[in-house]
Amino acid sequence: MAKINRFAEMHAEITAWRRDLHENPELEFDCFRTAGFVAEKLADFGVDEVQTGVGRTGVVGVIKGKSTTSGKVIGLRADMDALPIMETTGAAHASKVAGKMHACGHDGHMAMLLGAAKYLAETRNFDGTVVLVFQPAEEEGGGGKVMVDDGLVERFGIQEIYGMHNKPGMKVGEFAMCTGALMAAADQFTLHVEGKGGHAASPAACIDSTLVAAHIVVALQSIVARNVNPLDGVVLSVTSFVTESTAYNVIPQRVEMRGTVRTLDAENRVMAQAAVERVVKGTAAAYGASVEIDYELGYPVTVNHPDQTDFAAGIARNVSGESMVTTDMPPEMGSEDFSYMLEARPGAFVFIGNGDTADWHHPDYDFNDELIPAGCSYWAQIAEQRMPVSGG
Ligand SMILES: [Zn+2]
Ligand SMILES: [Zn+2]
Repeated sequence: MAKINRFAEMHAEITAWRRDLHENPELEFDCFRTAGFVAEKLADFGVDEVQTGVGRTGVVGVIKGKSTTSGKVIGLRADMDALPIMETTGAAHASKVAGKMHACGHDGHMAMLLGAAKYLAETRNFDGTVVLVFQPAEEEGGGGKVMVDDGLVERFGIQEIYGMHNKPGMKVGEFAMCTGALMAAADQFTLHVEGKGGHAASPAACIDSTLVAAHIVVALQSIVARNVNPLDGVVLSVTSFVTESTAYNVIPQRVEMRGTVRTLDAENRVMAQAAVERVVKGTAAAYGASVEIDYELGYPVTVNHPDQTDFAAGIARNVSGESMVTTDMPPEMGSEDFSYMLEARPGAFVFIGNGDTADWHHPDYDFNDELIPAGCSYWAQIAEQRMPVSGG
């Protein structure tokens, strides 16, 4: 069994990969060096098949077990992209690319999956097939969807899929998850409010787009307060408000606003979109202004499947012990494009503690290398225990 000690022996090697990836961050689909690094390592480990260019810059590796009589095929997924942030950690392995950094720990996710891949390719103590999925463009661009649209699950015959993300503030090696909605759908809107501009001393001759837009901001807050069941999680935030005027004496013709809507189920998602359109149009009309609404649907709700989540919880307990596993964590209002993979096949997404570090997307954030053995052991045991060798 893939005991945590096995990965303690590989800790220095896997840490070195992690730091190399950290020094060389790449954004969205531009993960060319990163994909090359991953593909080369997989080939070195002697995995049975390596395919690059799946979903643009995605990489897929296939490892067959000692036997494949079970016919089972399990996908394990890591994300590869970094963020447009200027790193301030001052670490020896800090980003060498100004304005880009691995501030979400995807460098660590790749390193842990590579560590598990090396072990699984050596030992092959399972009856079935492991498909290693390295996905670009999680932060922006929906690489998870692009890989699914490129036939990821059908081409490799994936039947179940598992994902893992580090989480600052949880103890190293601690695991947390829940069945059902784990992370939110993230949709966004842009509103173009058009009034009638003019001299600020003559408001009666104008339709003041700033006033109309301000009423829209306030009215939008009634959706979460009055249209949503108070026990459901919905967030609506207006995040940008820009008028055309920079002068003291001009009433602007136009105001542009942006915002995000986060929901944890499909009904609230549909309801919120309809409510935004109704409230925005109605408020603008009340003041004689016109408005254009661009409403974009982003990543869907990340929904964990009960069977696979129970199984994942059992593996997490094997790795870190009963007291280090939470199976009823409250959902996060962030979003994750692993959701597309969970729409395509059943599976589970879990969090693993990153210790007391800066939060995700903060310039001081760094993946905590101490969690590497637990993360690798989790991956390896998913393969070994979901597809056990008979009598083994
Ligand atoms: Zn992130
Ligand atoms: Zn992330």
